[in-house]
Amino acid sequence: MTYDLHVHSRVSDGTQSVPELVAEIADSDLEGFALTDHDSTAGWTTAAKEAEKHGLDFIPGMEISCSSNGVSVHLLSYLHDPNYQPLLDEISRARDSRTQRAQRMVELLAEDYPISWADVLAHTGEGATIGRPHIADALVSAGAVHNRTEAFANVLTPQSKYYVNHYAVDPVRAVQLVREAGGVPVMAHPRARSRGRVASAELIEEMIAAGLAGLEIYHRDNPEEDRRWLESLVTEHDLLATGSSDYHGGGKLNRLGENTTDVQTVFQLRTLAKV
Ligand code: AMP
Ligand code: FE
Ligand code: FE
Ligand code: ZN
Repeated sequence: MTYDLHVHSRVSDGTQSVPELVAEIADSDLEGFALTDHDSTAGWTTAAKEAEKHGLDFIPGMEISCSSNGVSVHLLSYLHDPNYQPLLDEISRARDSRTQRAQRMVELLAEDYPISWADVLAHTGEGATIGRPHIADALVSAGAVHNRTEAFANVLTPQSKYYVNHYAVDPVRAVQLVREAGGVPVMAHPRARSRGRVASAELIEEMIAAGLAGLEIYHRDNPEEDRRWLESLVTEHDLLATGSSDYHGGGKLNRLGENTTDVQTVFQLRTLAKV
């Protein structure tokens, strides 16, 4: 009886539609899942319906883009009110900025690669939250790289000359907003060093003080050597420790259910929600 609390669909940068994704989950050993598309809850209704059809337990979620002094932080929110306006304002600002940023990155890339904005849109679900994975897909179609992973290894890294930042809410503020919206904030892959700079211990402590409910400790991007420290934070502050795959369909090496969360932790998570 385990759950995968972090998966993506074409509502953001996963490669599967919500029904395709839920059908794959139904074929796995998982009891339930949380759909956590970036900065969007547009998949919730379909996911709930499909989950019910397949007898799966569904937890509505979202992965909020955050930024603190140039460090990118991802905050998972579970079970929040999707109509809470102050949180909606922040994610819509991030989504608009993501679109402008992707357009700018494509302008820069187009100087060296045969890609256009239309190519990127062709790989993006309607109304989806745009990210670098969609630019990667355009680069694959243009024959510049073999897959998303190769695109992220060089052309699209934060160190690349084509990289552009986007607006994202401060992570401490995001924790407060999720709580105000009745949701349960869990920090995604807290030590994902391979992606660039990570949140400092001080920042994580500030997020905990602001109401952070849990840490996604069991995620492939957290180095083994950091996990004991994360576990000690969970004990010290009485937090939830979650595990998940961050599955993106065929777009990433992460396999569905490669890390999971037990049903007791999911039960505790539900009791923390206020909606
Ligand atoms: P962005 O949201 O535009 O900053 O792009 C970052 C997103 O790209 C992350 O949320 C991941 O979903 C995805 N990503 C990061 N690294 C890789 C990779 N190596 N292969 C495929 N997707 C990746
Ligand atoms: Fe993603
Ligand atoms: Fe993430
Ligand atoms: Zn994710």
